[in-house]
This record gives sequence, structure tokens and C-alpha cells, in this order.
Amino acid sequence: MEIPETIICVDCGQEARRLTLPPEEGWEIGDSVAYRCTGCNDRWDLVVADDTAEANFTSYASEYRAILEERRLEDPT
Ligand SMILES: [Zn+2]
Repeated sequence: MEIPETIICVDCGQEARRLTLPPEEGWEIGDSVAYRCTGCNDRWDLVVADDTAEANFTSYASEYRAILEERRLEDPT
């Protein structure tokens, strides 16, 4: 299973670099992978969902962002 070195931060559009080193046995479903954005410095914690690729990975990030947006709406500061 291939996990990308970088993803695009959905908040600012900059690259987010992988912090987590690949396990010796390779990535497995359920492994969590952390990324740090080079733009806004946000940390992204993603979970390896299945073996079908990067698309799932980025959609996970989008869902995560939707959750953050909801929180912002609930707590307007
Ligand atoms: Zn960012």
C-alpha cells in the first residue's frame, strides 16, 4: 500500500508533509498517519482506510475539514 509523502492541505492549499515513518512491514488498514502543513502549520491525522489509493485519503481530509467547519459554526468567535 502506498501512502503519499505529501498531501494538499485543504485549509490553505499548501503541501502537508508526512511526519509518520512507514512501518517496517508496510502500511496497514487502521494505521494513523500524521501530516504537517508547510503553509498554516496544521497537523492532519489520517487513518489508512483501504488499499484503493490516495483518493480515499484526501476525501478523509475533506470530511475532517467539514467537521472543523461545523465546530466553527457552532462556536462563532
Ligand atoms: Zn495548511
